Amino acid sequence: MTFIDTHCHLQFEAFENDAASAIDRAKKAGCEALIVVGAMLDSSEKAVAFAQIHDGLFASVGIHPHHADKVSVDDVNTLEPLAKQEKVVAIGEIGLDYHPYESNGMVDKEVQKRLLLAQFSLARRLSLPIIIHCRDAWTDLFPLVAQYIEAGGKPGVFHCWSGNKDDAQRALDLGFFISFAGNLTYSPRRSLGEGGSDSSSTIQTVAKTIPLDRILLETDSPYLAPQPIRGTRNEPAFIIHTAEFIARLRGTSVEAVAHTTTANAKRVFGLD
Ligand SMILES: [Zn+2]
Ligand SMILES: [Zn+2]
Repeated sequence: MTFIDTHCHLQFEAFENDAASAIDRAKKAGCEALIVVGAMLDSSEKAVAFAQIHDGLFASVGIHPHHADKVSVDDVNTLEPLAKQEKVVAIGEIGLDYHPYESNGMVDKEVQKRLLLAQFSLARRLSLPIIIHCRDAWTDLFPLVAQYIEAGGKPGVFHCWSGNKDDAQRALDLGFFISFAGNLTYSPRRSLGEGGSDSSSTIQTVAKTIPLDRILLETDSPYLAPQPIRGTRNEPAFIIHTAEFIARLRGTSVEAVAHTTTANAKRVFGLD
């Protein structure tokens, strides 16, 4: 049984002392590939460096909407040579995030959109799929994604899914995959599949009902450690917990979830 962690941040500070052993543990836990995802210029550079050093690692380069006020649209041009390097399989993570964070609040929406559009054209120029980050911004995001697709952009994945069933249908209709992280596992058991009103049960409803051949797995490590290890530093080896949770939700085997999601990841990122 093998997995692909389609979204991790092994290049972040949380792993500065033990990234190599985390990669080792991931391989022992059945991860046949990991995609190290950039969120800023420096973390994108590091993601590419990681992928080039380690077998089975791939990289994605992009600037997270969180950092949209720290870069200029011209900085996207500096991503281009990086994005052309070997083992870079996507542009991301890019998107819109309207959540008011305690740390830095919310970046101006227009600034976020400008950065997103510049990265969409980069993805189109290089014909790479995209890794989308969306939080509380579905209404603004979908029309922009639709334009990107109409203009010939390659779909990709909505990572760390947090939307409802209608959002999921729109993402699927646009040709995207949907990736689930450890927050899928956070809701109490009683709400499993009952479509309750809290956000976890909404995510669970989506994970239960969309076609398995459009689902990807991720850890988003070091964040969002799944149950039963919630609250600890997450790492790619823990992807099994999310896979098992999806299997239980859907009444299928973890082997089936592992098999199909691994094939899906290879398809969307061209890993073969
Ligand atoms: Zn994200
Ligand atoms: Zn991320």
